[in-house]
Amino acid sequence: MNRKKILLPITLSLVVAFHLPAAAQIAGRAGVSAIPTGPGAAGPALNFALTPQQLQQRYQTATAQLDSALAGIAAIKPEDVTYANTVLAYEQATASWQREMYPIGFLTAVSVDPAQRQAAAELEDQMETYGVSLGHREDLYRQFERAAAKGEKLSALDARLLEDTVKSFRENGFALKSEEREKLKAMQERLGHLGNAFGRNIAESKDWLEVGAEGVKGLPEDFVSGLERTADGKYRIALNEASYGTYMRYAESAESRKSLLMKWQNRAADANLPILKEALGLRRDIAQLLGHKGYPEMTLKDRMAETPEKVMSFLSRLKDVVLSRARADLAEILEIKRRAEPDASQVFAWETGYLSRILRQERYDLDGEKVKEYFPVDRVVEGTMKVYQKTLGLSFREMKDGPRWHPDVRLIEISDAADGRLIGHFYLDLYPRDGKYTHAAAFTVIKGRRLEDGTYEKPASAMVANFPKAAPGKPALMPHSEVETFFHEFGHLMHQTLTKVPYASYSGSSVARDFVEAPSQMLENFVWERSVLDELSGHYKDGATLPDDLYKKMLAARSFQDGLGYAGQLGLGMADMVLHTVVPEDVSAVFNKVMQEFTGLAPVEGTNRVASFGHLMGGYSAGYYGYLWSKVYAQDIYTVFKAAGVVSPEVGARYRREILEVGSGRDEMESLRAFLGREPSEEAFMRDVRGEPETPAPAVGSIGGAGLTPAQNHSEWNLGLSRRKWWNPLTWFQGLGKPSSDMTKRFEALMTLACEGAARMRAARSQA
Ligand SMILES: [Zn+2]
Repeated sequence: MNRKKILLPITLSLVVAFHLPAAAQIAGRAGVSAIPTGPGAAGPALNFALTPQQLQQRYQTATAQLDSALAGIAAIKPEDVTYANTVLAYEQATASWQREMYPIGFLTAVSVDPAQRQAAAELEDQMETYGVSLGHREDLYRQFERAAAKGEKLSALDARLLEDTVKSFRENGFALKSEEREKLKAMQERLGHLGNAFGRNIAESKDWLEVGAEGVKGLPEDFVSGLERTADGKYRIALNEASYGTYMRYAESAESRKSLLMKWQNRAADANLPILKEALGLRRDIAQLLGHKGYPEMTLKDRMAETPEKVMSFLSRLKDVVLSRARADLAEILEIKRRAEPDASQVFAWETGYLSRILRQERYDLDGEKVKEYFPVDRVVEGTMKVYQKTLGLSFREMKDGPRWHPDVRLIEISDAADGRLIGHFYLDLYPRDGKYTHAAAFTVIKGRRLEDGTYEKPASAMVANFPKAAPGKPALMPHSEVETFFHEFGHLMHQTLTKVPYASYSGSSVARDFVEAPSQMLENFVWERSVLDELSGHYKDGATLPDDLYKKMLAARSFQDGLGYAGQLGLGMADMVLHTVVPEDVSAVFNKVMQEFTGLAPVEGTNRVASFGHLMGGYSAGYYGYLWSKVYAQDIYTVFKAAGVVSPEVGARYRREILEVGSGRDEMESLRAFLGREPSEEAFMRDVRGEPETPAPAVGSIGGAGLTPAQNHSEWNLGLSRRKWWNPLTWFQGLGKPSSDMTKRFEALMTLACEGAARMRAARSQA
């Protein structure tokens, strides 16, 4: 079963889109809001102006309160134990503690005051340690087991909470001897600290490439003029995602591109390679101590995928389709390369971005700079809010007052359009700033839940992004890919705030890691629809919407070189699984080997890209595959919107009710069925992977009733009937003899290959 109650989820509930952030531009804020504003209520009960001492005080008070509540639970006499005075009391006490901790953790991403940020980061470490120790409280665990043994009659949700709570403790080593438990606890703590260090090392790695005039040839003028210069007149190319991306696409000098790539893919290598190796070993040891075959087995059982075999099957099955598309993509750009080097037989990693950009420009005559002019940030923000309000039946109101951490931050109140009921709040923190989180992500700041007095705590979330900011005489314009990012992140805000689940453990976007992206990935499709683009676009000079000829070109180029894109995702998903399964001596060598096998592109010798693969230590361990996995559901859900004309209040209401409001209060599969009115289908996703044009959506069955109609599914890979059956590999590989053993063999062969690669490279290194 797909259950994921964490003992005490202290790390921020954050969903991240790893898109390129916009180049930093500094200037005064523009912003004409199309949504009403007013003083109104006070907004969320938050305070972002606390001093380090006050933060510390808050942590101590909340933790003392939690300690005392837990002592109360532990003190209940065995005969008096009930579900309500143990499990439910624990849920409420930990949720109250999190109510204080989340806003503190959030400050590490957005605080404008370095001292405050530092204090919040230190407290985050303390929360981590506290959380680990809580998971080892045997007195609590015994009480929960007693409650379970009472066999009270409970609602489905309460029964779920009881089962998940007992299970989460039981699986945390209470069957172990006490010295083994101590060992487990020490390993968990160590792992937590390694994770924090890994992320910090990437964020703090400072390096750059210095090039002469030759090295800036081909680059956009405003990019070059913004570069830092050295005393001897050289240009400094900074190692951040925006400048790296631009440089790799435009710089004519292949040699300089290679140098920059080498630096980029060696970020934090010295510090992080040993960390990674230790962490992979710790994860394996923890899993084995807890009785699992390995780390993937332990972590996947609580996700939709359930077992590593299913993930490996899923990824391996995509391999042939994706690799053949990726090879075709490479062959196309090799032709471009041959114009200058007729004998060239291979495209290198530092050439793909540059050659693809040329081919794209030639083939589609599509000028991204021209497209940008139709997407001023303010227009996109207002248009997005309009589309969401209409689709989901909401009403937004901008608040003039209310707590915020920076004057640029906008605070918006969400109400139900039908009955005016106040639902919650969200923040938009959109522009780059020193010391701010550098990607685009949605953060839960207050989790929705039913309070003890029966009222519902209004959720609050924040989108933190780095979009361009307007300057006098220079409008802030968004490339279409950033419009997509904004729309995607906005989807996370809605998932986090529209929740109606009474318990914090299940509310908002606290769904399985391999489902959490689905609602937002689904929404990305919206920004390719004419009706939506009419709302989002408006030329910065005259407000004209995106012209049809430009729109047609964008559509034509939409899946350009998707093969390479999918291959990259597939490679990372597979490498993550392989590393956690093999736990190799040479992490980098195995990573590179798998990437080559699954992308068709050779890694550059001497690089250690894995050292800055943040997902491995940031919540996606043995979970990167989830981006592709959840896209299966996303594309399927979208067929229903598409069939109803995209911005459909009717479908939107059902989506809100069956997907967004329910969180993980029930299994994700159940929510999917309730929304779709049929079994999920992988058809739409596979069409996308194969690069095929759209075909009509699958038929929608009776919605929400007891009689779900079976899928009208023409696919060979049927998601159908039940999850168990769906994920039985036997149903996938009909005609292949013994499919499951075939998969195992392929998996083993890959492992051997990966390990041999590592051994060879180790040997070569020791000789050198
Ligand atoms: Zn996301």
